[in-house]
Amino acid sequence: MNNQHEQRSKQTMSFQTEVKQLLQLMIHSLYSNKEIFLRELVSNASDAIDKLRFEQIKHPQLNHGQELFVELSFDKDQKTITLSDNGIGMSYDEVIENIGTIAKSGTKAFIDQLSGDDKKDANLIGQFGVGFYSAFIVAKQIELTTLKAGLDSSKAVHWVSEGSGEFSIENTTKETSGTTIVLHLKDGNDDLLSDWQLRSLIRKYSDHINYPIKMLKMPEHDEEGKEKAPSTELETVNKANALWVRNKSDITDEEYKEFYRHIAHDYHEPLTWTHSRVEGTQEYTQLLYIPSQAPFDLYDNKRRYGIKLYIKRVFIMDDAEKLLPNYLRFVRGIIDSQDLPLNVSREILQSSKDIDAIRSGATKKVLSLLEDMAKNEPDNYKKFYQEFGNVLKEGVIEDYSNKDRIAKLLRFTSTASGQEQTVTLEEYIARMPSEQDKIYYITAESYNAAKNSPHLEIFNKKDIEVLLLTDKIDEWVVSHLNEFDKKQLVSAASANLDLGKLEDKNEEEQKAQAEKAKPILEKIKTALGEKVQDVNITTRLVHSPSCLVAPNSGMSMHMERLLKQAGQATANTKPTLEINPEHALIKKLDASVDDQETKDLALIIYDQAALTEGMQLEDPAGFVNRMNSLIS
Ligand code: ADP
Ligand code: MG
Repeated sequence: MNNQHEQRSKQTMSFQTEVKQLLQLMIHSLYSNKEIFLRELVSNASDAIDKLRFEQIKHPQLNHGQELFVELSFDKDQKTITLSDNGIGMSYDEVIENIGTIAKSGTKAFIDQLSGDDKKDANLIGQFGVGFYSAFIVAKQIELTTLKAGLDSSKAVHWVSEGSGEFSIENTTKETSGTTIVLHLKDGNDDLLSDWQLRSLIRKYSDHINYPIKMLKMPEHDEEGKEKAPSTELETVNKANALWVRNKSDITDEEYKEFYRHIAHDYHEPLTWTHSRVEGTQEYTQLLYIPSQAPFDLYDNKRRYGIKLYIKRVFIMDDAEKLLPNYLRFVRGIIDSQDLPLNVSREILQSSKDIDAIRSGATKKVLSLLEDMAKNEPDNYKKFYQEFGNVLKEGVIEDYSNKDRIAKLLRFTSTASGQEQTVTLEEYIARMPSEQDKIYYITAESYNAAKNSPHLEIFNKKDIEVLLLTDKIDEWVVSHLNEFDKKQLVSAASANLDLGKLEDKNEEEQKAQAEKAKPILEKIKTALGEKVQDVNITTRLVHSPSCLVAPNSGMSMHMERLLKQAGQATANTKPTLEINPEHALIKKLDASVDDQETKDLALIIYDQAALTEGMQLEDPAGFVNRMNSLIS
């Protein structure tokens, strides 16, 4: 491995293939948005100062009392723009790792998402941590000189690249820690070499940055309107004040959105946000955003986003996962605590009562933000639900104390709605006829499989609404939810479905019918042998001859299939076959006196039921043959 103490002479290295590809795409597709490079570089500089401030807590020797700031300058003759920060800096290996050969996990996903539409693609930049490279949109060459805080000045690093596939790297000297980036501009970018232009870009994109961004004072003019000698004095161009510390009423929506871009690395506008100061056992400020687009790695355990934790305005850590429960992992933003000790570690956060209090407060805040959106901005809520509904559902399982609030936020499709998820449990209950006392649902692989399931025939006939649940997580959700507003959730596919007062026939009549059907049940059972646990008659079927149900105590058949797909061991319980005694096929079987014919019919009846359940047939060719001979 590389040795930090050894002086290394110049070497040329190649970008990884993905990085090369990305550079090419970026340069060509984002030219019309070229100004974004500045906010990317300023954002990195601000992150670097955040990191240094944090290190200074643990290592006071890194604190020389220096003012931490970013400096921007330009040279009209050389056609260069220079951005410096006195933040954490990078070591030799870090430069290679961060802006060199190694494509981050997101790079390829980023390339796959590019649409060819300049505007859309520009919005994607940064979301995958590719911000630095955007400087190649305007620069034909980038020179980066950096010294990691704490290292000897001779361990500074000089990195140069034309962005065409290679970079060179060597040790150099630099007196103070931090990073200086010089952009040698391509032709056609002279508009950027202007005090006015750079200042307005800083105010537009980087006003909210916590640290001063300084530029030389504008040259003064003499009486004849000529520029006097250039000023040597720096002045701060941005507000340089942590946005969340300011009064809500002084912050514009534009500023909130720009701050979101900075912290979330997401250039889609957020759907909404909440900004509040909490004073209680814990004193903290929270600024939390609901994004409008799911990131590509929402289900990736290694995703690297979340809430940023600040303590007394000092940045402490990214992705402080303990600050919100997992099912709210799509929320972005910051929490700034007044009370936590500055030297907290991830380990301390794991088991801190103070953090628990903040998390529970922040969770409630997000839930009420979602409730507000659902009530007052239904279109936005719909967008939110499309992107994050399945993650929110995890809350029913994960967060017992807020289960009912979360359940109210859920949206479903049902037999009374279109394919879009719009039905709330409250609406469902409001529509229930007075004899109905349960909430019925069915789980299936797809919307069509659910909607056309034979299990729903009796419900359709009686005009009873059934929730159609087709997301993988739904089985777990209903089993944890159990009931809502004191109404039990019941699967329309459960064995011995009890429709209670909704039943057509009374108990006596049902008993009589069961008695009458005994011989045919026996006949089918014998024909199917090991395939089924039992054969029963049912009242739930209207048009279909048969359906399969899970035995009374076991897990649902859909659940069992999901577990199998996930590679988990299952009990392999045998289903119960339910038949519709009124159906022609059943009557035909009843009348059959030929053993082979009886067996074939029984198998057809079974296989049909298996197919509508979405199961794989054991012997598909046999099924087809039997069907064909039945038809002809
Ligand atoms: P991101 O900021 O999303 O991580 P970038 O491409 O903007 O992606 O930057 C890549 C990495 O390069 C940063 O994560 C950081 O580690 C490093 N880096 C970039 N600019 C600086 C800087 N001015 N000072 C220190 N490190 C920097
Ligand atoms: Mg960046």
